[in-house]
Amino acid sequence: MNLVLMGLPGAGKGTQAERIVAEFKIPQISTGDMFRAAMANETKLGMEAKSYMDKGELVPDDVTNGIVKERLAQPDTENGFLLDGFPRTLDQAQALDQMLTDLGKKLDAVIEIHVPEEILVERLAGRYICRNCGATYHKIFNPTKVEGTCDRCGGHEFYQREDDKPETVKNRLAVNIKSSEPILSYYKDQGLLQSIDGDREIDAVFNDVKKIIE
Ligand SMILES: [Zn+2]
Repeated sequence: MNLVLMGLPGAGKGTQAERIVAEFKIPQISTGDMFRAAMANETKLGMEAKSYMDKGELVPDDVTNGIVKERLAQPDTENGFLLDGFPRTLDQAQALDQMLTDLGKKLDAVIEIHVPEEILVERLAGRYICRNCGATYHKIFNPTKVEGTCDRCGGHEFYQREDDKPETVKNRLAVNIKSSEPILSYYKDQGLLQSIDGDREIDAVFNDVKKIIE
């Protein structure tokens, strides 16, 4: 089963990826892991990627694509793989098709964990911190036991980090939505896209994932 997993930050993609890997014994291929491995093994492409990253520059698509292709050619992908964090652009999606063709493979499905934007904002922007002792809480996942009172020190003043503020989160999501839309429609046109409602319990989401894969 050759899969691409997509989902916005906060959609629970990481959790589902772990479950898929455990259940179906296919390797999870994430861009971060691939880059780290290529650099640690000092492959030609890995060193090239490193030279850009050391300068604080974006790694060009052809280098990234080369690293992905090397990874997809490894024997552990024989029974399938789960791509996570790639493709990030339409160009990369098209490059992926080409490299899979070169390798004699093809995608079986693109699974999108879909969660409405306002729910993502609630999940991502829920973190707040006690101004007195620094204890962190989350409005949904880990609230204080008594509203407005820190469990640890009894303090009543809280603040949010810039990154956790709703406006910042909304902007970050907007960037992600804009870049993922063309990829989703690209796969939709190919009949590969399977969108799953991710605004449910982890098990319920995973049941739908399993149905698609099976
Ligand atoms: Zn406190």
